[in-house]
Amino acid sequence: MECPNCGAYNPEGRTLCWKCDEPLPSKPERPKRREQVGRMSPWTWAILIILGAIWIFGQCGAPRRLQPSPQEPPAVLVQPTR
Ligand SMILES: [Zn+2]
Repeated sequence: MECPNCGAYNPEGRTLCWKCDEPLPSKPERPKRREQVGRMSPWTWAILIILGAIWIFGQCGAPRRLQPSPQEPPAVLVQPTR
């Protein structure tokens, strides 16, 4: 961070400026950014998941419709007959 008093760069974790010995504010803007990201992330993730699901379904559904696989047995034979 930069010292608010003299503008000198100080590595994170320092409480006093190495140049002017003024007390440095501890991580001023990060909590606000995290709140904004936290608000946006659920919707962003939901949209990404929905788009991903649609894309995956599109990738999986297209070849099956074009090529019905002859190797799969019909559903009737799968069920055990008693
Ligand atoms: Zn300073």
